[in-house]
Amino acid sequence: MALDQNSSTNIDQKPIVIVGTGLGGYSLAREFRKLDKDSRVLVITADDGHSYSKPMLSNGFAKGKSADDLSMADPGKMVEQLNIEVRTFTTVTGIDPEGKCLWIGEESLAYEKLVLAWGADVIHLDLKGNAASRVRSVNDLMDYRNIRKELEGKSKVAILGAGLIGCEFANDLIQGGYQVEVIAPSEGVLPTLLPDAAADAVRKGLELEGISFRLGRYATEVNASGDGDAIELVLDNGDRVEADMVLSAVGLRPRIALAEQAGLSCDKGIITNRALETSAPDIYALGDCAEVDGYVLLYVLPLMACARALAKTLSGERTEVAYGVMPVIVKTPACPVAVCPPPVGIEGEWLVEQEGDLDVKALFRNSKGDLLGFAVTGSKVPEKQALAKELAPVHH
Ligand SMILES: Cc1cc2nc3c(=O)[nH]c(=O)nc-3n(C[C@H](O)[C@H](O)[C@H](O)COP(=O)(O)OP(=O)(O)OC[C@H]3O[C@@H](n4cnc5c(N)ncnc54)[C@H](O)[C@@H]3O)c2cc1C
Repeated sequence: MALDQNSSTNIDQKPIVIVGTGLGGYSLAREFRKLDKDSRVLVITADDGHSYSKPMLSNGFAKGKSADDLSMADPGKMVEQLNIEVRTFTTVTGIDPEGKCLWIGEESLAYEKLVLAWGADVIHLDLKGNAASRVRSVNDLMDYRNIRKELEGKSKVAILGAGLIGCEFANDLIQGGYQVEVIAPSEGVLPTLLPDAAADAVRKGLELEGISFRLGRYATEVNASGDGDAIELVLDNGDRVEADMVLSAVGLRPRIALAEQAGLSCDKGIITNRALETSAPDIYALGDCAEVDGYVLLYVLPLMACARALAKTLSGERTEVAYGVMPVIVKTPACPVAVCPPPVGIEGEWLVEQEGDLDVKALFRNSKGDLLGFAVTGSKVPEKQALAKELAPVHH
């Protein structure tokens, strides 16, 4: 569907094409319009083009929010607000960097500049069993709409994965009135993000809410159980877990396939420098699909900083992104967490202060005593601002 009736830009001009209407694509369009009111901007998306804040998807049940409640603007409103064109339910299928055009099936579309903001795919587990296709995941507003509908009248959810998204959904669903069991191969929750003491605090907080965990275990099979909609998971040790829905939250992988096919340099994500330039002229990447100066950062704050920098570049002032300190806030009200992990591979050690089960302050310092990272939980979370200020400038 094409929406451009309100666009007052010159239709003969080749557009700046942004692929993706997530926080990356729409934030860039918004930032760009602050600097350039007239150049033609075409935003293309495979989904329905609603503007929404993805972090709200993992606290929507607790707040009783439907998918419609979470939509901040439909594509028509975005066209109006930003004087852009939007094409919804339109999947880009190829890029031709030399011809400066992209492909939508058989249709070729020329661009002046191209921005890839097409996000990351959920990782699908290779599960056996006759109900493996009923495993769900939530990575956009349409997924959220579907699981809310599917969960009507149901009572128990099994979550695969105890990372940030798995823990947030566990907390959200239990607050929404569901029983929740989390199954994950790691020995603790949030394994790559938190030191052990902080992770234990989060697990205890979630357990106190009534969530049960099977850690150090993974699912191998998913089968229909009984006559109704119930599902039975088989775990690696032969244990069985009954649930009405299985929600997989085992991670995301930047979408790189089309970029690779077009010859763009990719590693974990689409490789860009700090000006968000890919290896091909006039093609940029930002958000979950991008690997900016060696980092894939699947969070909102880096994406917003990238959108502001890229908007300047697209309007004629080449600008490199500068991040500052960006603590990650985990939305687990059962035990709130703020964490700024130390840079990968840097030397130092965690020093932990703990009061009670849920209140942890863990500081990562090097041998000179410089603060290089921190994790705070429970009542220690308000200290995050002061700690962020103290962080040594090794953070990019
Ligand atoms: C449940 C959940 C909770 C989160 N909570 C937080 C949080 O609390 N704090 C935080 O910082 N981060 C959080 N994140 C991460 C954060 O939301 C993401 O990093 C961010 O929203 C990614 O935005 P994006 O625009 O890069 O990608 P997306 O929002 O995924 O957008 C990708 C867009 O590209 C389109 N697209 C894909 N392929 C094509 C194609 N071939 N052709 C056309 N269009 C295409 C899609 O339709 C979509 O419009 C959370 C993520 C999830 C899943």
